[in-house]
Amino acid sequence: MSQYRAIRGMVDVLPGETSLWQMLEQTARDVLFAHGYSEIRTPLLESTDLFARTIGEVTDIVEKEMYSFPDRNDDSLSLRPEGTAGTVRAAVQHNLIQSPQRVWYMGPMFRYERPQKGRQRQFHQLGVEAFGMPGADQDAELLLMCRQWWKRLGIDDVLTLELNTIGNNEGRERYKIALTGYLSDNFDALDEDSQRRLATNPLRILDSKIASTQAVLTSAPEMATFLDDDARAHHDRLCELLDIAGLPFISNPRLVRGLDYYNKTVFEWTTDRLGAQATVCGGGRYDGMVAQFGGKSTPASGFAAGLERLVLLLQTLEMDANTSPDLYIVSADDDAFAQALCEADRIRAAFPGLGVVQHLGGGSFKSQFKRADKSGAAWAMVFAAEELAEGKVTLKPLRSDEQQMTLSREDLNTFLHQLETLAFEN
Ligand code: ATP
Ligand code: MG
Repeated sequence: MSQYRAIRGMVDVLPGETSLWQMLEQTARDVLFAHGYSEIRTPLLESTDLFARTIGEVTDIVEKEMYSFPDRNDDSLSLRPEGTAGTVRAAVQHNLIQSPQRVWYMGPMFRYERPQKGRQRQFHQLGVEAFGMPGADQDAELLLMCRQWWKRLGIDDVLTLELNTIGNNEGRERYKIALTGYLSDNFDALDEDSQRRLATNPLRILDSKIASTQAVLTSAPEMATFLDDDARAHHDRLCELLDIAGLPFISNPRLVRGLDYYNKTVFEWTTDRLGAQATVCGGGRYDGMVAQFGGKSTPASGFAAGLERLVLLLQTLEMDANTSPDLYIVSADDDAFAQALCEADRIRAAFPGLGVVQHLGGGSFKSQFKRADKSGAAWAMVFAAEELAEGKVTLKPLRSDEQQMTLSREDLNTFLHQLETLAFEN
C-alpha cells in the first residue's frame, strides 16, 4: 500500500462514482440554464477577513471551521468555507450588479469539521445567488428552481421544504432581546454551548440539537410576533406564491441559519433518509451584504446545496447513472483491427451520442468477449475477415436476448441510429 493517504475528511471520488456526480451536475446546469442563471467562478482562496465579516465572527464556521493560514507575505488567507462571500466580493469588484443578476457556482468548499457520513472537510456545493430583486417573487423562483432540480433527479418526494422568516434587523434585535431574556431566566437548563452563545449569538441556540435545550425552547418567544410590516408582508406573499405554485412547505419558527448574513426568508430542504446530516440545501435572503462590501445597496437571495449529500441520497435510493458503453468492438486479427479502428472513428463522428469502446491489445476472441462483457456494453461489434470481405460486421447482444445480426454498412447505420436515439432517451 502507498505510504500516502488522502487528508482526513478529504475524499477521492473514484471512476465508479463520478457518473452519478456528472448526472447531478448536468441536471443542475440544465435547470439553471432553463431559469436564465449564468455561471461565475471565483478563487478558492480569499482573505480571511472577507469571511469573518460576512459569515460572522461568532459562527461555527469562523470560530472553528476555517482553514486559515498566513501566506508568505504574512497576509491571512482562508480556503473558502462557502461561496456567497466570494461571489458578492466578485460582483462588487467587477460592477456586475448595476441591474439584476442571476448567477451560480459549483465547486469545493473547506471546513474543519468532524468527518462523518455526509460531512467532510472538503465538500462540494452548488450555489445560486440572485442580486437586485427585493421581492418574494425572487425567493419563490429560487425555491421552484430547487424543486425543478429535485424532480429531474427523481428525489422530490423524499425532500421537505422548511421555511421561516427572521425578519429585518430592527425586529430581529427586538426579538434577540426578548429571547435572551427568556433564555437567561432558564440559563441552568441550557447546554454548555448554548450558555456560551447566549451572550454572543442567541439566535443560534434556536437550532440546538440538544434535548434539554430543545425542551427550554418549546415555550420561548417566537420571531413571528416581532416582525415589522415589511417583513410580514414579504413572508405572507412568499407563502402565497408557494401555495399557488403547489409547492408544499413546513413552517419552522426555529429555523435559523448558521451564517449571520441572512434577513427575512430562510429555508432548508431536508430529508429523513440521511440520518443526522439531513439538510441537503439551505439558503435565504441577504439584503445587507452588497452594501457591506462597499457596493450600492442591493437586495440578494440565494441558496447552496451540498452535493455529497445529494449523491448519498441518490445512492440510498439506488439511483444509477448508466454509463456503460453501447458498443464494444472486438476484432479477429491485425488486419481486422485496423479496419475496426477506422470504423470506430467513423461511428463516433457520425453518432456522437453513442459510447464506443474498442478492444486494444489483441488476444483471443474469448478473452476479448470477456472484456466486452465486463465493460457493461450492450452490444459487441465483431470485425472478422470473411464478413469484412463482404462489407459486413456482426453485432452480438451482450445484455438482452435480441438476435445476433450480421449487417451491411447501410443496415448498420440504421441500427446505430436507432441505438443512438435510445441512448438519448435514457
Ligand atoms: P450543517 O448544519 O449540516 O453543518 P450548514 O448549515 O453548516 O450545514 P450551509 O453552510 O448552509 O450548511 O451549507 C449548505 C449545504 O452544504 C448544507 O445544507 C449541506 O448540504 C452542505 N454542507 C455543509 N457543510 C458540509 C460538510 N462539512 N460536508 C458536506 N456537506 C456540507
Ligand atoms: Mg455546519
